[in-house]
Amino acid sequence: MSLQIYNTMARAKEVFVPQEPGKVKMYVCGPTVYGYMHIGNARPVIVFDMVRNYLEALGNEVSYLTNFTDVDDKMIRKAEEMNITVAEVAEMFIAAYQEDLIGLGVKPATMNPRVTESMDKIIEFIKELEEKGYAYENGGDVYYRTGKFADYGKLSRQNLEELRFGIRVEVDSRKENQEDFVLWKAAKPGEVHWASPWGEGRPGWHIECSAMVREYLGKTIDIHGGGEDLKFPHHECECAQTEALTGAPLSNYWMHNAFLNIGDEKMSKSLGNGLLVKDIRARFKAGTIRYFMLSSHYRNQLNFTEEALLSAEKSAERIALAESNVKHRLELNPEGTGEAASSAVAERLTAILSNFHARMQDDFNTPDAITAVFDWVSLANQTLAKTDASSADFAALLNTFAEMNAVLRLTPELEAEVASEEVERLIAERAEARKNKNWSRSDEIRDELNSLGILLEDTPQGMRWRRK
Ligand code: AMP
Ligand code: ZN
Repeated sequence: MSLQIYNTMARAKEVFVPQEPGKVKMYVCGPTVYGYMHIGNARPVIVFDMVRNYLEALGNEVSYLTNFTDVDDKMIRKAEEMNITVAEVAEMFIAAYQEDLIGLGVKPATMNPRVTESMDKIIEFIKELEEKGYAYENGGDVYYRTGKFADYGKLSRQNLEELRFGIRVEVDSRKENQEDFVLWKAAKPGEVHWASPWGEGRPGWHIECSAMVREYLGKTIDIHGGGEDLKFPHHECECAQTEALTGAPLSNYWMHNAFLNIGDEKMSKSLGNGLLVKDIRARFKAGTIRYFMLSSHYRNQLNFTEEALLSAEKSAERIALAESNVKHRLELNPEGTGEAASSAVAERLTAILSNFHARMQDDFNTPDAITAVFDWVSLANQTLAKTDASSADFAALLNTFAEMNAVLRLTPELEAEVASEEVERLIAERAEARKNKNWSRSDEIRDELNSLGILLEDTPQGMRWRRK
């Protein structure tokens, strides 16, 4: 078996071969941190987490980078609106984003480089492009000279003539060619800025990813990911910038997730406001949201509806229940787990796992891989119904489930459930103490929770907690 990935650059599924055996370098474009994550943004977050988990399950060491765009026009506008600094806007929404990742059962990235912390690398990159003739300055702005890069358009297969026609309406006289894009923007009076060889300003959007990839992962990465709207112009520009300098591919495989729609409508940012991950995860468990996202292939459009989420909840609960019942039986009778499982159970588990991997290896076909998980649920329930099933059977069941679930993570909350009950009890007790103005008991409980690794936060919706 070998993993096949649909590579946008090739417009075909290709066998995945990392540059260095056992090591995968992966970069996924991250958010601009000027607002809360909406459910559409959660799709790439969950999809690429699953991809990373599967690559790890195959024994690879994965360097998984995703950036934070912490300065741009939208950030500046938000800071003005909130009457705080751009850096404060970033801090606030990065913290909220990280909370959301926990609520979605997503593992933290290996690294989250930020634009403001990578400024010297970005400036250096633009300088090198300028030295090679791929960039030119005009009035403190710096543009990429698309006319010099013959492959411009190769990823998105844009027809440059059409493209030129499309942008002819708004002719920008500072550019040599209308499809040229900005690498560095001169600061307007009063805006946040950094010193550069072209005067005070800040980077354009596309350059950060090229600079961060080169700095933290190297010349060519194995997988570059993002939503399909990023193909053009963002990823096209990333290719142009990096490949002009290195002459080598920026990434060997390009993966793009299709869009999540609201009902049957294309999701827009304005619609997104009502559908924030922080609100959805307050109502639904991570496992439910992940089930919903992964029960569709990542290259197919997906419709988000209340009914779809409720139905995902039922399915995810069936899986979680089977897992916890198997665990419970093992806890009741741990003797003999080291022995061999019965051949009937062992054979079916082998078939389930091989089916699971066959589906996953076919360009991460998670909806079909989930049918293997349901075959497991049936087998688990049949085995649970037998009074003479051995501990070895349950141990084997659990191992198989763990292998599949390390990838899909459909029950991430089960791990924490027992501890959570104790935490909830202490929080309720603390709320009562505060109501009675018993501040010392309230502080005592906060310290106690702190020593359990739990942080409390007052939010407009009430007290929330998270693990440190
Ligand atoms: P943005 O916040 O628009 O920069 O998007 C961050 C990431 O979410 C990018 O990879 C986008 O392609 C992706 N994205 C945004 N909206 C959606 C959506 N409705 N469905 C799927 N992916 C989306
Ligand atoms: Zn990017």
